[in-house]
Amino acid sequence: MACQSNDDLRALVEKARPIAKEGKVADYIPALGKANPNDLSIAIYYPDGNCISAGDIDRKITLQSISKVISLALVLMDRGPNYVFEKVGMEPTGDPFNSIAKLETTVPAKPLNPMINAGALVVTHMLKGNSVEERFQRLLNFIQDLAGNQSIDYCAEVARSEFETAHLNRALCYFLKQHHIIDEDIEELMDLYTKQCAIEMTCLDLSRIGLVFAMDGVDPESGRQIMPLDVARICKTFMVTCGMYNASGEFAIKIGIPAKSGVSGGIMGAVPGRFGIGIFGPALDEKGNSIAGIKLLELLSKTYSLSMF
Ligand code: GLN
Repeated sequence: MACQSNDDLRALVEKARPIAKEGKVADYIPALGKANPNDLSIAIYYPDGNCISAGDIDRKITLQSISKVISLALVLMDRGPNYVFEKVGMEPTGDPFNSIAKLETTVPAKPLNPMINAGALVVTHMLKGNSVEERFQRLLNFIQDLAGNQSIDYCAEVARSEFETAHLNRALCYFLKQHHIIDEDIEELMDLYTKQCAIEMTCLDLSRIGLVFAMDGVDPESGRQIMPLDVARICKTFMVTCGMYNASGEFAIKIGIPAKSGVSGGIMGAVPGRFGIGIFGPALDEKGNSIAGIKLLELLSKTYSLSMF
């Protein structure tokens, strides 16, 4: 679908872009360090199939932590909420996304929520399938359906780069294995998780996925219920309480929409009943969120009264 470049959006992008200078591209996954910190783009997808955009929306980004909310949706459909929430909690942590600290002090030991790395690793562990390939393919097919784009794939370079350097995520996995929350081969789980995080797409695809969440799981173009209403609601609630890591409270106050960010600089937003948003701005703030992306959302939320509160 053609996405119309929009002058009002472009003006907001240019207003937000200068703050990118105060941020820094993530380089703990070496392949992500190649991104241009000044990039900033946005797509907004409406239920009637219309789309508006600004910036270079053909550029592809990897999902990174944005994938966590999508794998959660599929696992909730696979296993049901009771099974899932026996192994991962529902509470924000106030800690950085990769923190190991609360794993040791939470009794019984389980990650506090599915949006931190420890919780997301447990969720990915729960993906159904007979092999890593089959589990990955099921997740990829689900993402292709949500985006309405069957050509979406993962970036092998980013996946390999994270696989080779994911020492802390391996540590989280071994801790969880020791406590019987994970019981698979950790190298296989890391293979699956790093491919999941490396699934790449454009802002347009991302906004289309945000739209399906915004519309309570209904594909607005086909009318198909891609995920049940209760699953979409659980995911959106986690986006509000934990979607922007330990900046979710301030984000809820200043912007007030369900959103999920990733260290690639992507942000997926779901404005309930109204539209989906896909943003890419790789320079990050100290909490790991796109610094210009958040500024852009703040301007957008003020201009169009988007807060749901
Ligand atoms: N793949 C990244 C990691 O596990 C995702 C983290 C993120 O986007 N915050 O470190």
